[in-house]
Amino acid sequence: MYLRELALNDFRNYSKTKLTFSPVTNILIGKNAQGKTNLLEAIYVLAMTRSHRTNNDHELVRFEADTAQIKGTLINRLGKTKLEIDLNRKGKKARINQLEQAKLSQYIGKMNVILFAPEDLALVKGSPAVRRRFIDMEFGQIDAHYLYNLTQYKSVLKQRNRYLKQLQQKKATDLLLLDVFSDQLAAFGAEIIVRRVAFLANLSKFAAQLQLKITQRQEKLQLKYDSTVELEGQERLKTDQVYQKLKQQYKLQQKKEIFQGTTLIGPHRDDLIFLINQKNVQLYGSQGQQRTTALAVKLAEVDLMRQETGEYPILLLDDVLSELDGARQTNLIKAIQNRVQTFLTTPSLNDVAQKLIKNPKIFIINQGK
Ligand code: ATP
Ligand code: MG
Repeated sequence: MYLRELALNDFRNYSKTKLTFSPVTNILIGKNAQGKTNLLEAIYVLAMTRSHRTNNDHELVRFEADTAQIKGTLINRLGKTKLEIDLNRKGKKARINQLEQAKLSQYIGKMNVILFAPEDLALVKGSPAVRRRFIDMEFGQIDAHYLYNLTQYKSVLKQRNRYLKQLQQKKATDLLLLDVFSDQLAAFGAEIIVRRVAFLANLSKFAAQLQLKITQRQEKLQLKYDSTVELEGQERLKTDQVYQKLKQQYKLQQKKEIFQGTTLIGPHRDDLIFLINQKNVQLYGSQGQQRTTALAVKLAEVDLMRQETGEYPILLLDDVLSELDGARQTNLIKAIQNRVQTFLTTPSLNDVAQKLIKNPKIFIINQGK
């Protein structure tokens, strides 16, 4: 799919702007603080109805204005779709072909975007919570069943933790009730773990191919699911096995969990490990390696999404070239070129990149114009 046109009204530092994009490569060049990220953000909001960098929609409205609009024309296999987001003080409206959508969840998913921003380095360097959020957001987008199990898991987890607190404070004594919660939690938890492992195997395969390309076959990247339960033979994992393992662990750790008043085992405590040539990137990787890894994992989602939905998403790359040496920049551009519609921001296009990118459409951005 690709975005053909975008019209902005009072969005961030753009007052009125109308743009027509290339279905392949679009490069946004501008000095700092001119509106490059703002433009990517507008495309992101058009797809997801919310920003990637703030939860406060009001920040998206231009300082002097009360309302903001983003309108776009999306082209995909099925034809042309007009998308529209209206932001005002009271809330927001989302329209598909002029028709207002009662629920934002009906709107999301029409346009698929993948964004890589400098903050995404946290995927490698940040806490396990960042990686779990990544997994949940990404897999939730392509698998409704995953999202369902996750919601159920979170709700049972809350109840179980509340009960563990009561047991800890001796306000409750019934261990059979704890078993009931454990049983439910293990059932949803097992579904989540099995799906995560399967998705990650796929994502890992795609990410590894990209990492090889970007590093001229020098870096072998692997993604590993690091679970609080032991999962030997990760390839052919069965839901029932994981369910039994979780239950077994809850029994073994019962005293500890009551003592701490919280659930210590399960997908909410699991993590993801990145290995380059068998070494943990978080511990041993250089800045450039960590960035390349985060990038390869994000870009791998393009392939995963294509595999799962049959359509390529739109790729938004904010400042990805910085921190990568010339060779990595060149290889990165080669790896993404001509596959998907790409928007790439940069303060200045170096010569290598300029020569390499075939027929890009270049936008020079200066003070929101
Ligand atoms: P950099 O290269 O530093 O990342 P950039 O071109 O990506 O720069 P943006 O983040 O797109 O910069 O734009 C930043 C500018 O937008 C800032 O000068 C900021 O003051 C302005 N800005 C942000 N929000 C609003 C708003 N609601 N109304 C008007 N201007 C805004
Ligand atoms: Mg920026």
